Amino acid sequence: MPSQSDPDRYPEPPETVRLRPALEKLPAYVPGRPAVDDGARRFKASSNESPFPPVDAVRDAAIDALAGSNRYPDMAALELREALGTKHGVDPSQIAVSTGSVAVSGDLVRAVVGEGDEVVYAWRSFEAYPILVGSHGGVPVQVPLTDTFEHDLEAMAAAITERTRLILLCTPNNPTGPSLSTEQIEEFLARVPEDVVVAIDEAYREFHDPATVAGTAGIFRRHGNVVLLRTFSKLQGLAGLRIGYAVAHPRLARALSQVTVPFGSSLPAQVAALSSLRGEVQEELDQRAEWIRQERSRVFAALRGQSWELPVSQGNFVFFPVGEDSAAFTAFADERGLVLRAYGSDGVRATIAEQEANDLLLEIAGEWRGR
Ligand SMILES: *Cc1c(COP(=O)(O)O)cnc(C)c1O
Repeated sequence: MPSQSDPDRYPEPPETVRLRPALEKLPAYVPGRPAVDDGARRFKASSNESPFPPVDAVRDAAIDALAGSNRYPDMAALELREALGTKHGVDPSQIAVSTGSVAVSGDLVRAVVGEGDEVVYAWRSFEAYPILVGSHGGVPVQVPLTDTFEHDLEAMAAAITERTRLILLCTPNNPTGPSLSTEQIEEFLARVPEDVVVAIDEAYREFHDPATVAGTAGIFRRHGNVVLLRTFSKLQGLAGLRIGYAVAHPRLARALSQVTVPFGSSLPAQVAALSSLRGEVQEELDQRAEWIRQERSRVFAALRGQSWELPVSQGNFVFFPVGEDSAAFTAFADERGLVLRAYGSDGVRATIAEQEANDLLLEIAGEWRGR
């Protein structure tokens, strides 16, 4: 292959293809920056990843699965779907697996949203939403969060029109942290037409206080238009393997399997996910979730002590509503070895990471307050 600098490189033909105009309006997904390795003490708290590597048994299972990589994975991911069906008390046919729950959300848009149809979601919320909706021809309808950084369900219900096909609820909400209760979701659903799909994105469910977490399994059973989105990327620590799923009612589940990329989830990803569901692995993951919750409480209390006013978070992250100072606060943290994630002029999100990183966050936040 001739390289860029090669004098003999092929002349480039004029590009005559037509791109979809919708692409011009799409925001770019800004990934959390990695912590640069410059020898200094640095931590990445910018992508809500697990600070723990995969559980040993899970990692070993994934490595063993590599030996079979000359074969396509089970396209139906049957073993995994059976295990997930058991976990959620549904038929395996009601589990739709893909390469992360972002991909499943994309499948959902492709299955139910036609050109010009509307998708309602809160904003700020997960930044993949406008990209998924816009890239498939849907019209994003963003409903601002309340001033306590929660979903404004009243306003979201009022935003529903004849063109609404899908509503995304993110609980706990990334990047701000508050969650929705069973009652809030039920009251909202009572105002949603039954032919509009309501997806509940629970990527951070495992980090929620178990005593108050929404009973989404019951909600799913009571409403034929509800779909649950779950991932192995956060607590299970498999973000790099890319696997997530939906729990859906039979017709929607079938529709998701019709539009998803064939052989999307790889064999190691399927095997690792399956292994994550085993009892002893689950116990270790539960302990990790509890550790993250304790760290979150510790960090939250210390930040309160520094007189920060932050939205209550049920995720593995906290949100600093620093407005116009977002870029400056992020740069300030960066200089001190902690990579955070700024959201325009709304605020900055910090992942609850390893203890040293959390200590550093407190140091930095205190120093910022005391400037
Ligand atoms: C991280 C995250 C996901 C998970 O995405 P994957 O594609 O499964 O890695 C889904 N929803 C939200 C809100 C998230 O923050």
